[in-house]
Amino acid sequence: MNKFKELHLKDSILTNITKAGFETPTPIQTKSIPLILKKVDLLGIAQTGTGKTAAFGLPIIQLLTDKPRIHPGREPRVLILSPTRELSSQIYDNLKLYSQNLSLRLGLVFGGVGQAKQVNTLREGVDILVATPGRLLDLMNQGFINLTKIEIFVLDEADRMLDMGFINDVKKITAKIPRERQTLFFSATMPKEIARLAETILRKPERVEITPESTTVEKINQKIIRCRKAAKYQLLRVLLGKDHLSLVLVFSRTKHGANRIVDYLAHFKIAAAAIHGNKSQNAREYALNQFRAGQIKVLIATDLAARGIDVPDISHVINFDLPVESETYVHRIGRTARAGKSGEAISFCDETENDALKRIERTIGMKLPVEEFQGIPEASVRISKPQKPYRDPRRPSSNKNNQNSSRDQKRPKVGFKFRSSKNRS
Ligand code: AMP
Repeated sequence: MNKFKELHLKDSILTNITKAGFETPTPIQTKSIPLILKKVDLLGIAQTGTGKTAAFGLPIIQLLTDKPRIHPGREPRVLILSPTRELSSQIYDNLKLYSQNLSLRLGLVFGGVGQAKQVNTLREGVDILVATPGRLLDLMNQGFINLTKIEIFVLDEADRMLDMGFINDVKKITAKIPRERQTLFFSATMPKEIARLAETILRKPERVEITPESTTVEKINQKIIRCRKAAKYQLLRVLLGKDHLSLVLVFSRTKHGANRIVDYLAHFKIAAAAIHGNKSQNAREYALNQFRAGQIKVLIATDLAARGIDVPDISHVINFDLPVESETYVHRIGRTARAGKSGEAISFCDETENDALKRIERTIGMKLPVEEFQGIPEASVRISKPQKPYRDPRRPSSNKNNQNSSRDQKRPKVGFKFRSSKNRS
């Protein structure tokens, strides 16, 4: 028997769950679905990768189909706010899957693309609206969105909203939603400001806490490779030459660093793409789709851009830089070993990163095995001084209004000089 049935979900939804390939609910689904069906407010401490989207999506779909619109109209009945375009798109895609054949209309709005298509969808009417805060506010201010009919409000990844500076936007949006509503609030961590926000927008919430740290971490084969800072590029290249690293997500602490890694690998004919906040929406989606389809084996990402990315088959996560916050380490390595699969996480640790390593080991409660990489003498690679200005070839150079123009874009491209032992005198 489908174990989702025990959570009081209807047959039509169970059919869609089966189509999605789910057999057993994840812990957050087991805990949250019955509560949400009882229409209480929920405070969920959980991160992406735990099955959170279905945990709120499935009961919301059931509540909407159980209770048709009271007032016929076009205004959204459910608002799901999420911090990034990638995460919003993923939520939207998942909800489409879970609500097949149930006559619910879904809408998706996010910034970085033209608004005309989004406005058309809104005009036609939506039941569930998935949105990022900036574009939502923009469309609200233009009079295209009316939130007065919202029955259920979901705030996803609240802590990232804070990190990305969206908290005031979230407050402004919340103020426009009727007080009489059901609110579901999700956050991976609970810094003070987020706890205060939760207090103001939730009413007598039930708390559901999922700590994937231990479970996720245990499933992942982790190791540290010590090497000099300068040898990290070479180490990455050596690792990527191994066949069993089939789909690799590499984390870089900075956007500039991510670009440098792509440039370096390109020099060795290793196709890789970078995703980070300075890339346009199209460039990010293109890279992500290529990676998902396995057309490029390596994706280099910053923490913010990678947040919410759901690519089920990532075989390896490589931490090119160790993150300063140990929680970030857990988030990063959780990109592999998804949905019951196994995965490996390899972290480079140079002479400046010993403290970060200690913090990580304290957080995950275990000592990580350490290997050493000495470098390859016959092909040592030195990154030379900048040669010429870097410009993304996909981006027109004269577009001053481009919201993605940034310091990184103006920075010089890194050149590489190669010294082989043969050439050395
Ligand atoms: P999320 O935390 O919502 O981003 O989900 C992470 C991944 O787990 C997604 O690829 C989902 O499709 C998948 N997933 C969610 N619920 C289940 C389940 N009950 N069984 C198997 N996979 C699931």
